[in-house]
Amino acid sequence: MHLDEPHRHGGPLSRDGSLERLSTTRFDVIVVGGGINGAVSALSLSAHGLKVGLVEADDFASGTSQESSNMIWGGFKYLESYDIRLVAGLCRSRNRLAAAYPTRILETRFMAVLEQGAPFAPWFAALGANVYWGLGRLRTIRPRHRSRSTIHRLEPAVATTGIRGGIEYSDYLLADNDSRFVSELVIDAERHGAVVANYVKLEFAELGAGVWNLVLRDRSTGSTFEASAQVLVNAAGPLVSNIGTLTESRTSSRLVFSKGVHLTVPQVTDSGRILAFFDDAERLFYVLPMGHRSVIGTTDTPVDDPEVTVTGADRSFLLEQVSQRLDLDRNLEASDVISERCGVRALVVPPGGSGRRRDWTELSRRHAVETDEGRRVVSILGGKLSDCLNVGAEVVDAVRLCGLRPMPPAQKWYGEPPEDEQRSALSRAAGLDVTSDVASVMWRRHGRRMDEVLDLLDGDADLGGPLGELDPLSRADVMVMGRHERILRPSDLLRRRTMFSMLHRPDTVAADKGVRDAIRMILGDEGLRAMDADPALTDDLKA
Ligand SMILES: Cc1cc2nc3c(=O)[nH]c(=O)nc-3n(C[C@H](O)[C@H](O)[C@H](O)COP(=O)(O)OP(=O)(O)OC[C@H]3O[C@@H](n4cnc5c(N)ncnc54)[C@H](O)[C@@H]3O)c2cc1C
Repeated sequence: MHLDEPHRHGGPLSRDGSLERLSTTRFDVIVVGGGINGAVSALSLSAHGLKVGLVEADDFASGTSQESSNMIWGGFKYLESYDIRLVAGLCRSRNRLAAAYPTRILETRFMAVLEQGAPFAPWFAALGANVYWGLGRLRTIRPRHRSRSTIHRLEPAVATTGIRGGIEYSDYLLADNDSRFVSELVIDAERHGAVVANYVKLEFAELGAGVWNLVLRDRSTGSTFEASAQVLVNAAGPLVSNIGTLTESRTSSRLVFSKGVHLTVPQVTDSGRILAFFDDAERLFYVLPMGHRSVIGTTDTPVDDPEVTVTGADRSFLLEQVSQRLDLDRNLEASDVISERCGVRALVVPPGGSGRRRDWTELSRRHAVETDEGRRVVSILGGKLSDCLNVGAEVVDAVRLCGLRPMPPAQKWYGEPPEDEQRSALSRAAGLDVTSDVASVMWRRHGRRMDEVLDLLDGDADLGGPLGELDPLSRADVMVMGRHERILRPSDLLRRRTMFSMLHRPDTVAADKGVRDAIRMILGDEGLRAMDADPALTDDLKA
């Protein structure tokens, strides 16, 4: 199968088709940057009837949006400063997002362990957890105070000798990963008519007579082409000021950066809970479930340059902190690390703010959507996955200030397809002898596109078996992913559309028959050669 093969479902434009449309359409808005903020903006603007283009210099979600903790949360930690109104607002956003994506965002229990030196006594933390639960409108399972012995029983991996007790409470976790969630929003934006392309970089922009004339580079061929739009949305994440310079647009807020590292290690607990601890500096860090692995994170280091990598010191810090708090056969070591994630949080310093380190918890709370009406540029600063629906709504308001006329959408602009579509897909799957477990994962992975998978299985049931040892991904799954998910390089599939390269070491991934078949099906022999030459997937065109 070739990536650009047209198919009978009349699905997405081929890459060439998208590039052609980008260069020939006079867009209302071009969104620059395909992380969570760019993806949600493209979805919301296109669902409001505007002609939207979305360009991403690398792969969708290959910036900060692939480096998060995957949590969708309501800001429990901000209760520390008694900012009830803020936490109530964040919980509302969290609930709205979780209700809209019920198979992709799952309620998850946290076990917050309080040591002798922890900043709060367990009874006080339990009170806070109950307030948090109330502010979350009781949507989750009730929080519980947990004694030392109960923690020992429920989470035997936790070292309970020096602890006072803990609390168990709920927030939400993305069932797959952050970048797959972003990719789903991009596909949804396309369904609403947006023209989207990864590996297309904005290189030059000039505003003339109320229209932006842009020079875009197709990074897969190196060639450039022109595009035009009335308004630009600057969703370049940590690089927002670069696009600001390119477009000579201003924001009154600015960004400072905090580096965060996660390490994937062998599974510490199979309870499905997130373990939360205070590190030596009284900062919360977590042990998160990811497939059959655990992820430890995160660090919080001020940096000036948003381009960051994991250092030996980051690794040692996290491994030491977690080993001190777990009761394992031996301490975790660098050789236990299976994969790493590393990115910067972009924190918004409001006008007149100092951006001093001690104010950073405060800074991490909010995003800013700013409009430079004269330059016809809307800039998105900061933001979280958890808060993405608010960003989508605010961007629609912002483009109004630039003279565009978004229309109210006929239906809710975000969310999974309605339940009756899910029910009918699941019942069709049952009719094709697909087990309910496999069908549920299929729905989560493909949503509406599940019908295409079932069409393939209807024609040839053998396409439904797992391709390899590492994951139950089937040939039919891969065929449908290849059609829709704009996979151009091995890392797009292995790091972002799936979690192969997060859950397994590079050599294991590259040797798996299923992975090799999947890469060959989507990217051909050239894709296989690229993976074999660079199994660690470092060659991501970032240079
Ligand atoms: C360690 C860590 C943990 C986190 N944990 C959580 C969490 O658990 N929950 C949560 O809600 N949030 C979390 N966050 C925050 C969240 O990940 C980020 O706020 C979010 O991903 C930012 O998305 P973005 O779209 O603004 O930026 P990005 O994802 O960085 O996207 C910007 C994109 O713009 C593109 N771009 C730049 N220049 C150009 C150009 N010239 N042309 C075209 N494209 C361009 C880049 O390639 C990039 O892909 C975490 C962040 C970090 C660092």
